[in-house]
Amino acid sequence: MPQYSVTYLECSVCTKIFPAGVAHNLCDCGGPLLVRYNLDQVKESWSRDIPASAPNSMWRYAPVLPVASTANIVSLGEGMTPLLTTSRTGKRIGANHLMVKDEGLNPTGSFKARGLSCAVSMCVELGLRRLAIPSAGNAASALAAYAAAAGVEANIFMPQDVPQSNFIECKAYGANVTLVDGLISDCGRIVGERKAAEGWFEISTLKEPYRIEGKKTMGYEVAEQLGWELPDVIFYPTGGGVGMIGMWKAFAEMEAMGWIGSKRPKMIAVQAEGCQPVVRALQEGAEVSRFWEDASTVSAGLRVPKPLGDRLTLRAVRESGGTAIAVSDRDTIEAGIRFASEEGMFAAPEGAACIAAAERLIAEGFLKADDRIVIYNTGSGLKYLEAYSTRFPRDAEGETGKLGGLITPR
Ligand SMILES: *Cc1c(COP(=O)(O)O)cnc(C)c1O
Ligand SMILES: [Zn+2]
Repeated sequence: MPQYSVTYLECSVCTKIFPAGVAHNLCDCGGPLLVRYNLDQVKESWSRDIPASAPNSMWRYAPVLPVASTANIVSLGEGMTPLLTTSRTGKRIGANHLMVKDEGLNPTGSFKARGLSCAVSMCVELGLRRLAIPSAGNAASALAAYAAAAGVEANIFMPQDVPQSNFIECKAYGANVTLVDGLISDCGRIVGERKAAEGWFEISTLKEPYRIEGKKTMGYEVAEQLGWELPDVIFYPTGGGVGMIGMWKAFAEMEAMGWIGSKRPKMIAVQAEGCQPVVRALQEGAEVSRFWEDASTVSAGLRVPKPLGDRLTLRAVRESGGTAIAVSDRDTIEAGIRFASEEGMFAAPEGAACIAAAERLIAEGFLKADDRIVIYNTGSGLKYLEAYSTRFPRDAEGETGKLGGLITPR
């Protein structure tokens, strides 16, 4: 195995350099920090054939992850999720090569496990034991689980109306949970105001540099699973945008190590109609987004009115020749149910929105039938029973002689 290869951290906005090995949040200029590696050194002792015989989790990419000592890794088996060919849905929407990477199979039922496995491991390494997070839901569940696994404290602030699954999970994992009558932006403000007095380390999206490193493994994996060739198109449900930024970073790292060429997939940022700051910014030709007022959607992970990483997300979308598109909640739930019945995969609304978005972009001619498309289903539908249950009332009356409905046995 190659030795520890982090060289320093670099501000994504002003390029100021910060040393590795100490705790960081944002740059003084407000920019998120990115971890840089000595990839020339890494590639001398590590090749793209090696991960195949490494552990079947995202930690198979440890040489490009920030943990110095493997003893500090807090893992629940996250990553290496299946990349499934979904040809029945593909055929219906006119896509000859449609694949879905099922992140719903991660610990805590969403890809947030990747980010928090990496971030909590780094907290262990840096001696940070009191962690705090504002979350739209799934990040809280993942922090609560990894904090429990690491034996450290999790202080969670989330909107009062988060899915029931997130609230119950966090409580079960033993986290301190505070519900906020507001949005994730309000939760973020509260953590910011209280952290100094409480001695908390803030582990919120992009405000610490390591969640993105965990999430970037989605990019390494898709390359490995496709024989080191990237797809033509990637659909990513974009809330904070971390997964998108992380994958974009992973592609650059892989190219620097000579693992892939310079070709990139079109990156498609999928948002909800009720909260689409990135779509609006792209349409306006802006470099950053504006706060989306009264954000509302069943896709809890997409309810981020002003993502901190908007600049990097927009850059990846533009440089890749991709686009951003918003889907209504109604179309999202419809797409999720149809997809489940066609493919046997019960997607989170965030993932389902991508199916609806793909259908539209193919119909509009933005994508071609032969494009190789990968959709990230970022979570399991099981975490969103309230959203889906509106379509399936249990007390629907049965019809005589037909299957279904509620009946009383004689
Ligand atoms: C958090 C979340 C997202 C958005 O992720 P980002 O990487 O922050 O854009 C999408 N889907 C689900 C299920 C999520 O939990
Ligand atoms: Zn800076």
